Amino acid sequence: MSTAPEELELVRAFLNTTDIGSGSDELVSPAALVGWLSERSLLESGASAGDQDLERSRELREALRAFCLANSSGELDPEAPPVLDAAAERAGLRLRFGADGEAKMAPSVEGVDGAHGRLLAIVAESMRAGTWERLKACRSDDCRCAFYDASKNHSRAWCSMAVCGNRAKARSFRERHAGA
Ligand SMILES: [Zn+2]
Repeated sequence: MSTAPEELELVRAFLNTTDIGSGSDELVSPAALVGWLSERSLLESGASAGDQDLERSRELREALRAFCLANSSGELDPEAPPVLDAAAERAGLRLRFGADGEAKMAPSVEGVDGAHGRLLAIVAESMRAGTWERLKACRSDDCRCAFYDASKNHSRAWCSMAVCGNRAKARSFRERHAGA
């Protein structure tokens, strides 16, 4: 449901490794982080991770979520871009020209920093392709789940109209009628 096209789905999945509503997090330990990234070929086999890698991954996840929230609400948290800049720097993202004749951003380091670089390269490519603005974070404060807005007019604000959309509607209804 609401999956993003091709590689962008990896970014959406990364954002949804945590569920803000229930407080659950798939990235509970450096080992869990390695498992998650390796399963998606973002990390080379045999790579390891430490506590700092986990901390930076969570930081990157929330900075990316801020970008996706800006895609649904219009306002970007000014603290988010420097977090992405720092991750791109650590990954040593460089422009590479492949045998297929295409230019692509690629990390120049391995490990978790390199994996972050791969995710950022997907983001940059998606921005260029015009699909990025459709990757949104649910506007509901206690959800913030990432979804791909495939609607014609790009107007979706909630991950699910049935759950978060209706909850928000009910809330604004209550607020409108509370003062009456
Ligand atoms: Zn939601």
